[in-house]
Amino acid sequence: MAPPPARLTVDLAALARNYHTLGAVSGAPVHPVVKADSYGLGAAAVARRLMAEGARTFFVARAGEGAALRSALGPEPTVYVLDGCIADTAAELRAADLRPILNGAVQMSDWLDSGGGPCGLQIDTGMNRLGFRPEAAPAPFDGLALVLSHLACADDPSQPMNRIQRDAFAAIAMRYPGATRSFASSGGCFLGPDFGFDAVRPGICLYGGGPEGRPDPRIAPVATLTADVLQLRDVPAGESVGYSRGFTAPTPRRIATIAAGYADGVLRAYAGGGQGQVWIGGALRPLVGRVSMDVCAVDVTGLDVAVGDAAELFGPHRRLDDAASAAGTIAYELLTAVGGRAQRVYIS
Ligand SMILES: *Cc1c(COP(=O)(O)O)cnc(C)c1O
Repeated sequence: MAPPPARLTVDLAALARNYHTLGAVSGAPVHPVVKADSYGLGAAAVARRLMAEGARTFFVARAGEGAALRSALGPEPTVYVLDGCIADTAAELRAADLRPILNGAVQMSDWLDSGGGPCGLQIDTGMNRLGFRPEAAPAPFDGLALVLSHLACADDPSQPMNRIQRDAFAAIAMRYPGATRSFASSGGCFLGPDFGFDAVRPGICLYGGGPEGRPDPRIAPVATLTADVLQLRDVPAGESVGYSRGFTAPTPRRIATIAAGYADGVLRAYAGGGQGQVWIGGALRPLVGRVSMDVCAVDVTGLDVAVGDAAELFGPHRRLDDAASAAGTIAYELLTAVGGRAQRVYIS
């Protein structure tokens, strides 16, 4: 069978390079964040490769993600669940040997009342999202293996709140002498050696997003979204292209219809006069008109392009952060928007 016309290619060698870069720059062991199916790249394949590179501890968001990861990876790695111990998940967590990150007093008593065991603790040092406020942080207890906090502004090194949070975390972590201290997400890995503590928790930088929301020479592109040209047409001046006449050809244009649309993560904000561009025929060319569910249109006038050629929506020639900025969004949303229909292809 021919490969599907839209593919998300994941470069596992580039993933491995980013993993080692993040360890070197932060000076701390890397505990990869593989929540949301590794930001859409496929958690099982990503985590297996990261294990081969040395990772032994992973973070997911949901208990269900953790259970799936446990099935994929077997008993060896440690898996933390950032949601913590919510509702009736204690048994589910324990069944898959998952460790909740306890975010508050109710989660903590639910976990301990159900039998306790290895777990982590989140301290809120100012983000006001999840975790115990420092003044409400519990005394050390049996099973506590890790204490973490999360930066609100990790993508902005000039933000004074970074150091304020870092110092608050250092102070509170002294209460838990035996626990692994984890503070930095992707951006935090680059903020200086005193942000690394005992383990860092990067997500987006493993997957090719820059630490400051733009391409960064230290981070290799990992994910490439490509789609094939389904058809080419010559559109006379004055005719329109696509739904709602979103584009009218000012002069005769050659238009390629590409096999990727909303369902594959091509955002509506790209087209209709937006900044969306794809790499095709050796050049960056604009998306024109509206995006459709399954296809989009690119102006390839003057290029040597044939049916079946691949267009790159993001990847090494159209960097993930640039593609995201063009749609008024960020790499996280762009990656997780790639639907299940685009085949994941792993290269190493
Ligand atoms: C998602 C998340 C991370 C990873 O964040 P990135 O910005 O993708 O590196 C780390 N820690 C926590 C608590 C998170 O929720």
